[in-house]
Amino acid sequence: MIIDTHAHLYYDDIVSEMDKVLERAAESGISRIIVPAVDIQTSVKIISLCDKYEMLYGAVGFHPGDIKDTESGDIKLLEEFLQHPKVVAVGEIGLDYYWDVSYKDKQIYFFKEQIEIAKDKNLPVIVHTRNSTKEAVEIITEKYDGNLKGQFHCFSGTSEDLDEILKLENFFVSFCGNVTFKKYKDINIIENVPVNKLLSETDTPYLSPEPFRGKRNEPAYIKYTLKKISEIKNIECGKLETAIYRNVMNLFFTI
Ligand SMILES: [Zn+2]
Repeated sequence: MIIDTHAHLYYDDIVSEMDKVLERAAESGISRIIVPAVDIQTSVKIISLCDKYEMLYGAVGFHPGDIKDTESGDIKLLEEFLQHPKVVAVGEIGLDYYWDVSYKDKQIYFFKEQIEIAKDKNLPVIVHTRNSTKEAVEIITEKYDGNLKGQFHCFSGTSEDLDEILKLENFFVSFCGNVTFKKYKDINIIENVPVNKLLSETDTPYLSPEPFRGKRNEPAYIKYTLKKISEIKNIECGKLETAIYRNVMNLFFTI
């Protein structure tokens, strides 16, 4: 059994063929999918998708790339969304210094605020970083109290960043389809992540694995990424999937 912990299934072109997308996901062994929000609008969409489709669960939060238009009052709405029984995390949140650094302070402010809310509600955080992993890890470490838990999704940090994350109990990393690309450079990072610290994700509709590179990604393609990771780590794919499944259940669905 596999859980896709990160698929942005709220885009119109996906919603319009949701039954088929979920059918293909189920055929690939996927039992649950977490759909992360980036702002208020996507949070609202995700909650209605969760109500409609049994397989779907949600994360609500403000993505650093969309923080420009976020206001402090929006935090209240976020707390409301978190009441929904199928919302299992605060996300995605974090820091993104790749696209736009003019809102750095605002990104940091909302990242910290949302971490506090997650701690308060005892929910995991889904952390996005781009050119900012070191600083994000520092903030998580500073806020860490043994109770804070979460995922560094689509991990793109250094070995040093990974070492710091591995020190935090209940923090995990996951990799996307780009690990299947010929020029993927961080094979050694994947080698160094213990299996009990790994989660599974696609980041649909982005970062399709080979042989679908450049096309719209979907949860069913998760198996190509997992297969690649199992090869890198020299573990039987089924064994890896079972271990990861347990990690995902522990983090998001508190078994
Ligand atoms: Zn995402």
